[in-house]
Amino acid sequence: DTLRSLAVRAHSKQLELIVSFAPDVPDEIVGDLVRLRQVVVNLVSNAVKFTELGQVQFSVECLGSRDDQARLRFTVTDSGIGIPKDKLESIFSEFEQADSSTTRQYGGTGLGLAIASKLVTLMGGELVVDSEIGKGSQFSFEANFLFDDTFVAETVEELRSHKVLLVIENQLMRDNLKQTLKQAGVIVAESADAKSALQTLTEMASYDAPIEAVICDVELSNDDGSVLVEWIRNDKNIASTPVILLAKTVASEMSVERKRLGVDDILIKPVKVKDLLNSIALSLGLFVEQTTEHTRNEHAAGKAISQLRVLLAEDNRVNQKLAVAILEKHGHLVDVAHNGRQAVLMFQQNQYDVILMDVQMPEMDGYQATNDIRQLQSKIGQRVPIIALTAHAGPADRNRCLAAGMDEYLAKPIRAQELFELIEKQTGHLSTIASKSHSAATASENVDWEQAFATVGGERKLLQELINVFLKDEAKMLANIEGAIKQDDGKELRLAAHAIKGALIHLGGRKAASLAGELESLGKNEELAGADGVFLRFRESLQGVVEEMKTFLIR
Ligand code: ADP
Repeated sequence: DTLRSLAVRAHSKQLELIVSFAPDVPDEIVGDLVRLRQVVVNLVSNAVKFTELGQVQFSVECLGSRDDQARLRFTVTDSGIGIPKDKLESIFSEFEQADSSTTRQYGGTGLGLAIASKLVTLMGGELVVDSEIGKGSQFSFEANFLFDDTFVAETVEELRSHKVLLVIENQLMRDNLKQTLKQAGVIVAESADAKSALQTLTEMASYDAPIEAVICDVELSNDDGSVLVEWIRNDKNIASTPVILLAKTVASEMSVERKRLGVDDILIKPVKVKDLLNSIALSLGLFVEQTTEHTRNEHAAGKAISQLRVLLAEDNRVNQKLAVAILEKHGHLVDVAHNGRQAVLMFQQNQYDVILMDVQMPEMDGYQATNDIRQLQSKIGQRVPIIALTAHAGPADRNRCLAAGMDEYLAKPIRAQELFELIEKQTGHLSTIASKSHSAATASENVDWEQAFATVGGERKLLQELINVFLKDEAKMLANIEGAIKQDDGKELRLAAHAIKGALIHLGGRKAASLAGELESLGKNEELAGADGVFLRFRESLQGVVEEMKTFLIR
């Protein structure tokens, strides 16, 4: 996500921004996201700033892992102006610039690297640089992270042994994607240009071993990607091969082109591994196999499940995980914004079919973000449906959402089925398979399992994953509440209580959620004197929820 936002600047300079993760880098780690992001943003934006031609590469390797820790190395390499040898040390000092004339040409404060280098030290590493004038620079650092052992790696079993052709001119990028695909068990053929790609396609078809999908960069220097698509569509032996294009932006004229040419999907560079694998699986119809009888009938009726690009603006981690899991399970692509401001930015950089907007978020709330998006949109002239997610369920709240420019309104707790119904209504696309019947669920004093299962559309495994996330966060969230009460900080209490309340509601912890709600309003009204007693009852109730959830996990 971080690099996506930096890609805009790189692409406007016609630079390729390449992202590569070595195969052994863990899928999820625990660390300080804000710091890490700050350092990466600094290094990559410098690289983009000081490079006029070629590419910027960001890569991550795993240097080793032990027990619950992994040591990762991050490297940013550019093909830019380089830094004189005698300046290599001093650029890490405050207000230093390699060449005072660069200030005039490139601007900047000379503070970025000094700060980045301090942050890296705090993460247990060292920021080092290697550079050659006229050739480019390489900044790298190492840092330790904890594993997130609750993370369940996505299975890509379905892609194993399928044959895919990569048509990408930039060798680094091609090698990168090749490695990623091979790791997922895909058989990869490659071409650097459209002509040889066509040759490979027809040859393989004539050997009766056809390529099943083509992934093609839009920018090829001789014939561009769309030319290849036309050739494919006009050759009856290979005409039905799905094609996924990789592009720097999705301009609106492109979606028209896309329909005309019969392109199956367009992915924005740098491509996320998960997006790529999803897109291939979908173009191969692999998600369709999971559908139920009901859906097959819908297919027969000519209504196919569409893969939607969804922007989810939500700050609560459990809610995020929940919505992402539900949507991705059905093949949709989800980007997450952590607050309203980020949502507005991401809306400007990507094209979405629908936006799910939490109302209450830090920095910028959902109303304001919707307002900003609608303003921006009036210039572009294309309206994306926005569905509000809110805990407040009265008619006044509904009106407020609609007045802010949202199209629909979904009261939390989110229920998978309702969510899909609203999305379908708003986008006109069938977005889900038939609902599953709930697993036999019993109500108890602590956890309303009926609600918990409804949240995830009856998917037990998904519920387990969510509970895992919750159990990981719960102690911290509780400590935040306790801390806020001790510090007599009403605002903090309101936010902390709100966060855990949302999670509890979704997971069926009704009684604990209502106590969290009481704490929330005490915080809101700055009535912290009465908070201690409520806190004790809340903690006890939460304890009951946690124990019951743990039992559920081992059952
Ligand atoms: P600034 O805000 O000036 O970019 P930094 O501390 O980030 O401050 O960088 C300090 C100086 O280091 C820059 O002014 C530039 O001269 C040099 N520098 C940093 N990164 C690069 C790079 N990738 N290529 C060339 N020069 C660089």
